[in-house]
Amino acid sequence: PASRYESVPQPPGDAIFGIVKEFRASTHPSKVNLSIGAYRDDQGQPWVLPVVKKAELQLVQSPSYDHEYLGMEGYAPFVQAASLLVLGKDSKAIKEGRVAAVQTVSGTGAIRLAYEFYKNYRKDAPILLPRPTWPNHPQIAVEAGIKTLEYRYYDAKTKGLDLAGMLEDIKAAPPRSIILLHACAHNPTGVDPTPEQWKQIAEACLSRDLDVFFDIAYQGFASGDLGRDAWAVRHFEERGFELFVAQSFSKNFGLYGERTGALTCVVGSKETAAKVTAQLGRLTRALVSNCPSHGAKIAAVVLNDPALYAEWEDNLQTMSKRIQTMRDQVFDILTKELKTPGDWTHIKNQIGMFSYTGLTKAQCTALRKDRAVFLLDSGRISVAGLNEGNVRYFAESLDWAVRNV
Ligand code: PLP
Repeated sequence: PASRYESVPQPPGDAIFGIVKEFRASTHPSKVNLSIGAYRDDQGQPWVLPVVKKAELQLVQSPSYDHEYLGMEGYAPFVQAASLLVLGKDSKAIKEGRVAAVQTVSGTGAIRLAYEFYKNYRKDAPILLPRPTWPNHPQIAVEAGIKTLEYRYYDAKTKGLDLAGMLEDIKAAPPRSIILLHACAHNPTGVDPTPEQWKQIAEACLSRDLDVFFDIAYQGFASGDLGRDAWAVRHFEERGFELFVAQSFSKNFGLYGERTGALTCVVGSKETAAKVTAQLGRLTRALVSNCPSHGAKIAAVVLNDPALYAEWEDNLQTMSKRIQTMRDQVFDILTKELKTPGDWTHIKNQIGMFSYTGLTKAQCTALRKDRAVFLLDSGRISVAGLNEGNVRYFAESLDWAVRNV
């Protein structure tokens, strides 16, 4: 044989990157890319946050800037600031030293690291994932060798939360399994529980003694308010849960390719926190040795400087407001101008980067083929791909699909 690896099967293509490729190949003058989950400005371009640019310059010009390895646990000024960011200044766990935390290779690396920890120290516990969820949640579990189960989350009829189904599934979960919760801006649906609903979810998790694992990839990016987007995590801490929290700084700092993240864990005692941190460091050493430093150093400059922090909050407002404006405009064009059949309030009510439009697979295919509007087969759109220049074309195309496909 030409190669001993001949029998390696071709994996299925990645749904999202496949559509990006189709978009790039399209020569349609009005083509719109709504597939990829990355923020775009009103010209459809990537946006380097002004505060990030400023902090980066300050950083590289500092005489002490270097490219040395970070330790296994990461860059301490970043890691501490990350824990404080998500748990808040009133966190009892922080005050009592019950926080274990390390830097990770962005949000994805934090999820992988948490799974590795669970595999070692919560042997054989399955992890419950929402249906639907970010496809990497189950994929990482497969590679880490962790069994996954699902809980109901999205109700296609209301295009909102299936709270009753979710609570029922949590209460029927194997006791002491692990549950993964999206802290805010649920990907792919854009549907989040309200504070009242979160309280019921916490209650249900307590009733099965679940290990709770939050994934927070959109803190500050979702609502523009850092505290509001972390409300669920902080509520669970107040309720006395031990928590693992995977933090991504890709979206809220626009540091996508710099792979900036952290895993913050609230545990029962200071002694346990020290051991958990050391174990996470040990696992990091075996997985990636240590994390990329540049993004973490940029984020640390911003997070630890009150003036830059305030500027960052302002940049977060710019991004979240622009996305909300696009949601409002789509809604207004569909309902007030085009009188598109159906109820479109979910476009406004869903939050964060994504919206589950409720379009059928056939409608999505037709939109790609006939209108060069590139959205996923699930009907998910990345709202950040809309801008003043293409929002009308998008709404008119959606109207066309609803009426004709
Ligand atoms: N979790 C969710 C729900 C996400 O949507 C993402 C990014 O799309 C991530 C985690 C992690 O992304 P990254 O590894 O780029 O930080």
